[in-house]
Amino acid sequence: MTSPDVIVIGGGIAGLRAAVDLSARGARVRVLEAKAVIGGRASSFVDPQTGDRVDNGQHVLVGCYHETFRFLATIGTADRVRLQPNLDVAFVDRHGARSRLRCPSLPAPMNLLAGLLEWEALGWSDRVAAMRMAKIPPASPFETVEQWLVHNGQTARMREMLWEPLALAALNQSVREAAAPPFARVLSDMFSGEPRDAALGLPLVLSTNCSPSRPGISWRHAAVMSASARRRRSCSDPVRCRGRSKWTCAVSACRPVP
Ligand SMILES: Cc1cc2nc3c(=O)[nH]c(=O)nc-3n(C[C@H](O)[C@H](O)[C@H](O)COP(=O)(O)OP(=O)(O)OC[C@H]3O[C@@H](n4cnc5c(N)ncnc54)[C@H](O)[C@@H]3O)c2cc1C
Repeated sequence: MTSPDVIVIGGGIAGLRAAVDLSARGARVRVLEAKAVIGGRASSFVDPQTGDRVDNGQHVLVGCYHETFRFLATIGTADRVRLQPNLDVAFVDRHGARSRLRCPSLPAPMNLLAGLLEWEALGWSDRVAAMRMAKIPPASPFETVEQWLVHNGQTARMREMLWEPLALAALNQSVREAAAPPFARVLSDMFSGEPRDAALGLPLVLSTNCSPSRPGISWRHAAVMSASARRRRSCSDPVRCRGRSKWTCAVSACRPVP
């Protein structure tokens, strides 16, 4: 590639989304990625003992991930995620009791409130506590998700049954460690827009995201180069460019993936 108009540092889903968008607008884009494969945390790897491909994530998507869905549509993999029409989740609590949270197709946050009223796993004190989250309260960067939930009056049952599983799915981090503001943002996006923004999306196949190391992805939007030209090597898992590219696709790893 001749000199690029834009350099994107990091070939995770955010960097690749930016690169695809910019290239669609006519910019010459170069993505600098430190690892030999792109995708960042949304990637997979082959287990050396079993030979199975292990998916790192994302395992759960939420309807409010509008940019992620637009990105998947652009790279032709949106049909590999099944998105519910409304939030509908089956739960099994620690005693084995089964229940189901179904949020109807009402404007937010009425959909959440109606779902919580019908959810048999909750008592009235849990429901009353949950009403306080109808308008998502502000979160300080100095508190964890757990502290934020306690501080906003969420009962142990509400935390165990809904908020903690949601936080773990969205942040992939324990509520005792994860910072509160990103989770407050996810909840606000889920319960302040269209009813479908709260729905869950599950990948139908392993290769749902953007990593070209996954089978079946045709990656043709941006040139991807390593961060270090000085220690360039051939990539063990090169980007597959299937002839429809307007860019010359290449990956070179500045250091092998450990
Ligand atoms: C095990 C696991 C499961 C997950 N499950 C879910 C889930 O179910 N649902 C969900 O919503 N989210 C999930 N996540 C979170 C989700 O995967 C991340 O939020 C998302 O992939 C982050 O994308 P990103 O592009 O912002 O960052 P990253 O994926 O971290 O990408 C950053 C990239 O930049 C590169 N980089 C950094 N510094 C440099 C540099 N100086 N030069 C060049 N390159 C650099 C890194 O190598 C990396 O490839 C999960 C995460 C993990 C780890």
